[in-house]
Amino acid sequence: MKLPLKFDTNGNFKIVQFTDLHQGPDRDKTIDLMNKILEYEKPNMVVLTGDNIDGKCKTIDDVKNAINYIAEPMETRDIPWCIVFGNHDDEHNLMSKEEMMNVYMTFEHNVSQIGYKTFDRIGNYNLLIESSKENIPKFNIYMIDSGKYAPSFIGGYNWIKFTQICWYKRTALKIKQKYNKRIPSLMFFHIPLKRFKDAWSSGLIDGERIEEESCAKINLCLFNTIVKTGDVKGVFVGHDHLNNYLAAINGIKLGYAGYTGYGGYGGYGQDNIPRSARVFLINESDSANFKTWLRKEGDK
Ligand SMILES: [Zn+2]
Repeated sequence: MKLPLKFDTNGNFKIVQFTDLHQGPDRDKTIDLMNKILEYEKPNMVVLTGDNIDGKCKTIDDVKNAINYIAEPMETRDIPWCIVFGNHDDEHNLMSKEEMMNVYMTFEHNVSQIGYKTFDRIGNYNLLIESSKENIPKFNIYMIDSGKYAPSFIGGYNWIKFTQICWYKRTALKIKQKYNKRIPSLMFFHIPLKRFKDAWSSGLIDGERIEEESCAKINLCLFNTIVKTGDVKGVFVGHDHLNNYLAAINGIKLGYAGYTGYGGYGGYGQDNIPRSARVFLINESDSANFKTWLRKEGDK
């Protein structure tokens, strides 16, 4: 059975975040790196934060093959995994995000959901992680579709819509009412918020910032809503391949996973940077204080 997700018998739950796999129709060494990192970290769950595949896919079979390659490392190890979409995932124009989500969801261990749909966004959902001892949640994960490009008169990337922020608020409230307390949470999506920049300049904890954050020019109130709501302890993204930092602002950790894929669009010195993933270790006795680190390709 896929759900519920549960802390292990030691009270731990480990998540590996892979991002920007940029897998195409030809299996590339990204899959080998995923295998290696999963062997090393042995996580309880894997999160993919968008640009999982890209426009290298030229037929529907290409899209399905690319998704098959991505699925393999988790499926062969019986690890639950889930995805959000990035700005490149549907640029092949062959399948919609909803159609692709239905392909992802056919895998035995995939726990993604179509979830809340609004505008062009699908795959806004949350996953509760239950205590090892009882059927009550000790942690929660929000997955959000951060969209693609802004209208040309604005330029740059699109933003997380107000309706999505309302969905987050509603979901947090429902959880709080049902369990009578806030459940510590992580939030994952593809494109960073403007607040990442503020966090980096005021509260860098670890890691590198080699390129400027390519966030949307328009920024609605997601971060302030998170601060007010109080359940989300960390927001983690992909998108900027050269950034892998961890920073904090208002007591909330904001960070990148680096760049896991080898099949991206190249340039900007990307070919030389070590590929990476981010790891999260959560203990159910103090789930708000999760640990996180990078696992890089050269690590033994
Ligand atoms: Zn991207």
